[in-house]
Amino acid sequence: MEGARELLERTAGIAADYVESLGDRRVFPDVTPEELRKVLGGPLPEEPIDAREVVEHLAEAAGRGVVATGTGRYFGFVIGGVLPAALAADWLTSTWDQNAGLYAAGPSASVVEEVTREWIVELLGLPAHASIGFVTGTQMAHVTGLAAGRLHVLDAVGWDVGRDGLQGAPPVRVFVGPKRHVTVDRALRLLGLGAPAVVPVDGLRDALAAHDGPAIVCAQAGEVNTGAFDPLDELADVAGEAGAWLHVDGAFGIWAAVSPELGHLVEGLERADSWTSDAHKWLNVPYDSGIVLCAHPESHRAAMTVQAEYLLQDEGARRTRDELDWVPEFSRRARAFPVYAALRSLGRRGLVELVERCCRQARRFAELIASEPGVELLHEVVLNQVLFRFEDDARTNEVLARVQDSGRIWLSGTSWDGRKAIRVSVSNWQTDDEQIALAVDAFREASRAAVPR
Ligand SMILES: *Cc1c(COP(=O)(O)O)cnc(C)c1O
Repeated sequence: MEGARELLERTAGIAADYVESLGDRRVFPDVTPEELRKVLGGPLPEEPIDAREVVEHLAEAAGRGVVATGTGRYFGFVIGGVLPAALAADWLTSTWDQNAGLYAAGPSASVVEEVTREWIVELLGLPAHASIGFVTGTQMAHVTGLAAGRLHVLDAVGWDVGRDGLQGAPPVRVFVGPKRHVTVDRALRLLGLGAPAVVPVDGLRDALAAHDGPAIVCAQAGEVNTGAFDPLDELADVAGEAGAWLHVDGAFGIWAAVSPELGHLVEGLERADSWTSDAHKWLNVPYDSGIVLCAHPESHRAAMTVQAEYLLQDEGARRTRDELDWVPEFSRRARAFPVYAALRSLGRRGLVELVERCCRQARRFAELIASEPGVELLHEVVLNQVLFRFEDDARTNEVLARVQDSGRIWLSGTSWDGRKAIRVSVSNWQTDDEQIALAVDAFREASRAAVPR
């Protein structure tokens, strides 16, 4: 590749400059969509442009509209930063450009998935035989885990959903809690299971008893606004009695399982049938990186596998892993490399510290912000999320907008029980006392500047 070294070194320099700028860069860029269209738009060039020029233009033009999610001052949605080892491993993933669908297309990608599976299963305390799939995010992890569940519960009543589909099948009833994440609903929609029945935990036993037949229960480990957990042990009892499949959304909350301090939140986790999580949130792996795990590898594989003559799939003789057997994708990125690198660079102790530090900083922020005039905490801090508001919706909105505009930190709003609220997610490996103090200051100033009540 002519000039590749020069180009890659130049690009590494641009990337390093960016990373070094994160300390004092505005968090949300001061830019309009019109400005971005102007610098990025225009007709497709007729003639080739030199790669270096293309990259430099991209860095300069697109760089104006980049949100600095990599700083410890970013508290929006639930978005993690990037651990250096994971970032670098992600570069190598692109450089190697493996098609991680088959062992035959990339042996190391396949083996790294095997190794990473063992580590994650052990870290989370899940059954040692649990299978894994590396997907784009929790959204597709839901699709995969719930597809395994759909197959499994229908198989138990003698219906082969792979062959016969859902038309004419015994109805599969799906139960979710009122605060489940919207991605659960979309996964169910894609799987032809329709809208779920919304049932609070204490109504689930009766709801399951009201009908016979295949059922799936979706539980939550870490609600997106509050970080709250469903009582997994109790749900495992109730689902178990009814022969229902228990699926756990643990997008970020599942990582509580690694901490002795927080482990009680996920008591019973290992009793579920499928689990989902993200590496791109709390594990601080670059996007996109989700994880699905399943206690029934045969159902997981049966729900996902494909076979074709030309594929050179492993028939079991060498017992190697063909990744496309475990995910909805066919050709795919070798997504486990950065996850593997993140886990190795942290080690068990580093991971526990990352999780506990974020929770500690969330509690610290909550304590400090709660002593500001007009602030009401809307939920106790159970994990790494803080939910609060000012006196009324108008002031809540105004203070939040001022804080966002300041560029010093960024975080997002939500509605909670019909009222406007502000949510803080501490999901970045770099967030420490200094960033929390800065965040509280930003709110103090914005609150003083906002129209009094
Ligand atoms: C973020 C999140 C999801 C969706 O995950 P993606 O990785 O964005 O697909 C699902 N559930 C919860 C609780 C989440 O926080």
